[in-house]
Amino acid sequence: MNPISLKSFVYEAQQRGPRVLILGAVHGNETCGPIGIQKFMDEMAVGQHKLLNGRVTFIPIVNEKAHALNVRFVDENLNRNVMPHQTPQNNEQAIMPDLCRHLSDCDVLLDIHSASETTPPYAFINATLHPHEIEYARHLGVAYAVTGWEDAYKKIGTYDETTSTGTTEYARKFGATALTIECGGHVDEFAPRVAYDAVINCLRYFEMIEGEAQPAANFTALKLENVFYKQAAGAHARQWRSFEPMAAGDILAQYETGGVITAQHDGVILLPRPNAPVGEEWIYTAQPLPRPS
Ligand SMILES: [Zn+2]
Repeated sequence: MNPISLKSFVYEAQQRGPRVLILGAVHGNETCGPIGIQKFMDEMAVGQHKLLNGRVTFIPIVNEKAHALNVRFVDENLNRNVMPHQTPQNNEQAIMPDLCRHLSDCDVLLDIHSASETTPPYAFINATLHPHEIEYARHLGVAYAVTGWEDAYKKIGTYDETTSTGTTEYARKFGATALTIECGGHVDEFAPRVAYDAVINCLRYFEMIEGEAQPAANFTALKLENVFYKQAAGAHARQWRSFEPMAAGDILAQYETGGVITAQHDGVILLPRPNAPVGEEWIYTAQPLPRPS
C-alpha cells in the first residue's frame, strides 16, 4: 500500500515564530475538529485574523477514509503505535509517514478530539515532561487537564511504550509542547465551538494572532493515580461520570463473585467504562495536582 499524502493548509507569517500544528479527525467520527478548524480558516480567508508570526499548519481531516465512513478508524487506531511505517499494510499505517513528518516538524501541537460519551471539555497533557503544558491547557478554555497516564500504567506494570505512542507522545519526542483536547462527546452540540475556541486560544496563547487567550474561569489540573482493569464479570457500583468527585474508600465497582474495587484516595472518577470487556480498563481515578508554590 502506498503512503497517503495528507491534505494540509499552511499559513506562514514573515516574522519568525513557533511552528504550530493543528489536527482534526485523527479519529474519523470525531467531527468537532474539522468543523472548528474550517470555521477558523474561513475567517482567515476574509481577513478576520492575521498571522503575526510563525507558521500554522492545519490538517482538518487526518483520517479521511474513516471520516467518510463516520468510524473511529478503518483498520487500526491511528492514535496508537504512531511511527513512520516504510511499508504500510493498511489505511492507518499509510497515513503515518506523512503524519509523522508533520509531528516531527512542529513546536506546538493541538490535536482535537471528542469522546464517545458526553463530557466537560478537557485536555490530556504530560506535566512530568513538560510542566508548561498545564498553562497551555488552562489557556485553551478547558476546565480540566489530565496528566500522569504513563506513570499510572507503569505503577501496575502494563505500560507499553509502542502502543502508548499517540500523536502527542510522538511530537514530544521531537521537543514539541503537545496536547490532545477532548471537546465533549461526539454528538454534543457545544463540541465544535469548543474546538474553534481552542484553535483561537492556542494561536493567541502563543502570540501568533491578535487578542488574549481566554482561560477557563475554573481550571483543575489532575494527575491520573489508578487504572483499574476489569478482572471478571461485574458492574460499576453506580453510573459514574468523568470528573465526578469520590472519596477514599468509596466502592467503585463490584464483581459478581463479591469482590469490590475501592477508591484509594480522594479525587475524581475518570473515563468510566461500564461495559468494558473483561481484561480491559474499567475505571480510572485521579486527584488534583498540587499547585506550584
Ligand atoms: Zn479521539
